[in-house]
Amino acid sequence: MSEPNTYPSAPVELPLGLDQPEPAPVEGCAGCAELAKVRDWARASGDGTTVSDCNVFIRRHPEGHQ
Ligand SMILES: [Zn+2]
Repeated sequence: MSEPNTYPSAPVELPLGLDQPEPAPVEGCAGCAELAKVRDWARASGDGTTVSDCNVFIRRHPEGHQ
């Protein structure tokens, strides 16, 4: 007897931010450049919280560019 495998596959839960593309810093914006630098440092030291914080700020930044 084989067991029926009827349950739907559970969605894979990823930590916040890992399932979406990272925003790119806007060229010529000092704020974005700074955030991108901090993001790189944070990633290098394994600080995922700061990485996603920087992503949030960079993503929000375009609203302030014009
Ligand atoms: Zn910016």
